[in-house]
Amino acid sequence: MNQFDALQEELSRLRAQGLERSWQQVEAVEGGRIRVKGRWLIHLASNNYLGLSLHPRVVAAAQEATVRFGTGAGSARLIGGTFAPHERLEEALASFKQAEAALLFPTGYMANLGIVTSLVGPGDLVIGDHLNHASLVDACRLSRATFRVYPHRDADRLKEALDHRRGRYRRVLIVTEGLFSMDGDLAPLPEIAALARRTGAWLLVDDAHGTGVLGAHGRGSLEYLGVSPEGILQMGTLSKALGSVGGFLAGPRVIVDYLKNKARSFIYTTALPPGCAAAACEALRVIQEEPVWRQRLEENVRQWTDGLKKAGWQLVSDSSQIVPIHVGEVEETMRLSLALFEAGIYAPGIRPPTVPAGSARIRTSLTALHTPADLQEALFVFEKLFSHAIMGTP
Ligand SMILES: *Cc1c(COP(=O)(O)O)cnc(C)c1O
Repeated sequence: MNQFDALQEELSRLRAQGLERSWQQVEAVEGGRIRVKGRWLIHLASNNYLGLSLHPRVVAAAQEATVRFGTGAGSARLIGGTFAPHERLEEALASFKQAEAALLFPTGYMANLGIVTSLVGPGDLVIGDHLNHASLVDACRLSRATFRVYPHRDADRLKEALDHRRGRYRRVLIVTEGLFSMDGDLAPLPEIAALARRTGAWLLVDDAHGTGVLGAHGRGSLEYLGVSPEGILQMGTLSKALGSVGGFLAGPRVIVDYLKNKARSFIYTTALPPGCAAAACEALRVIQEEPVWRQRLEENVRQWTDGLKKAGWQLVSDSSQIVPIHVGEVEETMRLSLALFEAGIYAPGIRPPTVPAGSARIRTSLTALHTPADLQEALFVFEKLFSHAIMGTP
């Protein structure tokens, strides 16, 4: 009996259920395509929504800062790891998100951990959407506050829970994604923000997917839904539309100052590489100066969703760049994903526990770099593969 046998058994169980995880090496990227196993595929699984990780200005900014400051920051932010690109980016993020201040974290995951665990603890209530991202769920659990969930996007049930429980806790923190990562739908932020204000609860909005994409200036789901960001804790990531890596909080200055002193995932870790900060900073500038990328993405979303609808799909989400095709069972999802691969499309199946059991899906996402011809080709494949398989199911 080997001391790790139990783990081997669990892995075998996962494999038997079709739930074992693996990756495929990406050999090259170009526009809206990637090369995997020697084949160029239409990439329908990227979060690089505006294509900015490949934008010449963004790449040049990363190079310049890297040459000047080195590949790594060399220290934590508070002890010698803060360079000009970090400070510049925090100012730019605060201004972009119309907040008083902003604070960088090494990743979005660590931002959520640091924010939630610093702001609530025993004696507090944290209440989140049932479909919140794993990083938010982990953060809520680790905080040791009482943790409750409300049904997906259900502001009425959130209101009931708040009315019922508010008096029993010192602090209440509401946590939701803005644009949901696996469903592509929006939180009812006007209702939730009003509820927070009325009950004195704090509101954290994780806008990993809305940042850079949604709203007249690309500020995110608050701008898109016409909600004033005042007093709201806006979390985001640099790793999606901003084409880099890193997480951030934008919000009231006192919150930023507090996190600077308390958030362990900010304090006890090395600062972002200066090149990554400089890249994200340039990406913010590109977003404001070159609206063409957001326009292209919007056109691509329209072409893709119109095409799917014409082919008989009932799409559950609002028209965002995240368009999930619900399948249900794991086996069927993985079979379709493989068939897509064979037909020249990269769109891995999304399985539990990333999504709830019974709701496995092909999550397609669009970028500004897809050409109309790419999408036409992909639509042709989707129509052919999916029409008989699961037509009509939502
Ligand atoms: C991707 C994502 C994160 C984590 O961001 P990283 O920077 O990739 O760590 C957090 N929340 C949501 C909703 C995400 O989709």
